[in-house]
Parts: sequence; C-alpha cells; structure tokens
Amino acid sequence: MCARCSSGMSRRWVALSLLAIGAAGCSENAVSGRKQLAFIPDEQLVQIADQAWEQMLSQASVIRDPGLQGQLAQVAEPLVAASGRPELQWEFVVFDQPELNAFVLPNGKVVAFRGMLEFVRDADELGAVIGHEVAHVLARHAAERLSQQLAVQAGISIAQAVFSGENGENADVIAGALGAGATLGVLLPYSRNHELEADRLGVDLMRKVGMDDAAAVRFWERMIAERTAEGRDLEALSTHPADGRRLEQLRRLTA
Ligand SMILES: [Zn+2]
Repeated sequence: MCARCSSGMSRRWVALSLLAIGAAGCSENAVSGRKQLAFIPDEQLVQIADQAWEQMLSQASVIRDPGLQGQLAQVAEPLVAASGRPELQWEFVVFDQPELNAFVLPNGKVVAFRGMLEFVRDADELGAVIGHEVAHVLARHAAERLSQQLAVQAGISIAQAVFSGENGENADVIAGALGAGATLGVLLPYSRNHELEADRLGVDLMRKVGMDDAAAVRFWERMIAERTAEGRDLEALSTHPADGRRLEQLRRLTA
C-alpha cells in the first residue's frame, strides 16, 4: 500500500478496506507519477458519470450559443488532443449560472459557468481553467476520491453493492465524489493536494499546446483578488488550496 493513499482516513478503516481491496487497489498514475488508492475501474466510473451527466443536463440551464461554444471548443480541442485520453467523449458545456466556477466529470464532460466565461480575459486564461479541469481527469482524482469515500464511509462491501448496480442510496456520495457537488448540492470538494496537482498538470498541458502558461498566474491573481473583495475567501479556504500556496506553485512552474 502507499502511504499517500491513507492520509485523512481512520487507520482502522484503512486497514480493513485495504485488506479487502488488496494490493491491486493502489497503483501509480502515469500522468501524475503518484501512487493512489483508486480501485474503481475507468469503465465503471465513466458509466456512473454518464448517468450523473444525464441527470445534470436535465436540471441545468445550458447556454447553447454557437459563438460561445466555438470559443470554448477552440481553446479546449488542442488541450484534449494533448491529454492522452482520446477515448473519452469530451464535451464542453456552459451552464447559465453566475458563479466563478468550472468542474469536470470523469467521463470528460467539462462545465464552465457563465460567470467564469465572463471573467476570463483571453483564450490563454480560459486555457488555464480548462487545462486544470482536464488534468483532474488525467490524474484520476474522481476515482481516487470515490475510492477513499467508499473505503472510509462504508467499506468494501458497500462498494461492491454500489458497483453491482444497487446504487440508489449511494447516489449522493457518488455524485459528490465525481465533482458534481456544486450543481447537485453535495459539497465534496477536491483536496488541496488534488487542486495543486491539477494546477501543475494543467500548466504542463498548456505548455504542450503552446499556450502562454503565465496566464494561469494572471488568472489566479485576479480570482483571488475577486474572492477577497467579495469576502468569500473564508469559504474558499475550505475548498481550495491556500491561495498563497497555489500562486507560489504556479509562479514557480511558469517562471
Ligand atoms: Zn480543481
């Protein structure tokens, strides 16, 4: 087992769960180079994410503006082409909500809220946002988080029940772990380490496609200023890496 996988979990549950899951549950991620507890196969994760996505689309107000869609596609397509995950049905959609936010599901569905599109100043800043979201998928953060959730909250027997199709009562856990929290009202933010890793891998992607990676720094400087001005930094602290740490890493990576 890998030590990193067990951070934040109760030792007893971890021991029991890892015994049940076996060594195969912990594997090295080729993109991040980090070992992770992510025992849910990609195919199953995609299947669950497809269901969550259908539900989300039926509830959300989607902006279907060809101009906006084209703008998003122009930025997203090279990043996706460089992602190494062409088998996913990548899709980029704008929800008509004012929040400065974006999220991704592990089946490649990326949502940017209207507020975010209004906030970014150029294609490179939008690339920083999209690159970060794509990176969450490449690093299998949803699989890791869902694995941890299931291991901690219920143990492997419930995990088996979930993946044998009786997933009704665990729908909230799954939706939250997938990254759908902001939309479905289940708050399960990514950990600070996942956020920092997505920042780092997102910058790698930007570079691969020739984007100006310094845009990630510019974007986050303005985001942080905006949050502070709105007095939302206390809330953000629980869901985002400490802003200073995030900026420090981005400045170092793009120097
Ligand atoms: Zn993120």
